[in-house]
Amino acid sequence: MKKCLLCNQMFAPVLSLNQLLSWRKWHEEQLCHHCLAQFEFLPTISCKICSGKLLQDADKQSLICSDCRRWQKIYGNNVLYHQAVYLYNQAFHDLMVNYKRYGDYVLCYVLQDLCYKNLAKIKADYYVPIPTSASHIAERQFDTVSAIYGDLVNLTAILGKIDGQQAQGEKNRKERLQSKQSFFIKAKYNIDLNMKKVLLLDDIYTTGRTLYHARDAVLATFPKAKISSFSVCR
Ligand SMILES: [Zn+2]
Ligand SMILES: [Zn+2]
Repeated sequence: MKKCLLCNQMFAPVLSLNQLLSWRKWHEEQLCHHCLAQFEFLPTISCKICSGKLLQDADKQSLICSDCRRWQKIYGNNVLYHQAVYLYNQAFHDLMVNYKRYGDYVLCYVLQDLCYKNLAKIKADYYVPIPTSASHIAERQFDTVSAIYGDLVNLTAILGKIDGQQAQGEKNRKERLQSKQSFFIKAKYNIDLNMKKVLLLDDIYTTGRTLYHARDAVLATFPKAKISSFSVCR
């Protein structure tokens, strides 16, 4: 039996025969079925660029969401292909408030639970986490994105973030979209991402602003990097 990380009830994790017969350590489920059912998968028919939900008629006709249509106006065909797993619903909102605002570190294992199967299907040469600014790390004592993905893939933390800016999570939609580039490539990393498959990792894709800035920062140094992105939630 195991204790669910969200409701503290005991539950029996379901193990497949393969897992039972395997010598390798398998991923242990962290959530009971009741809590897991509170999270809603993104619809199968979703935006073909960012996997977001198609809300407006124009979205449904083109299979491109309104956020991505706006990015197309700026970037033309050079849009960022993004994969996500869950829809941003109340359960996800509550989870992220406890994780990011109240700094409940143990919830990174819940987020791992929600995304590890999907992330395992994406093969990349480099997995690059979206960084937290130094002052936010000092507040929470941990980096929220690296805490989720560090156990799942090898991270290449080449991106840094300029300090002194308001967190994206504290802004409204308009402020998010207007936020300025704050990412840079850390000088100490002596690697070449040109021609390499790079997967940018974030916890949530809201407007796309953060991930497009991160991609622009990588491309400024490595113009031939092949970049796509992933988040638990969209
Ligand atoms: Zn539970
Ligand atoms: Zn989209």
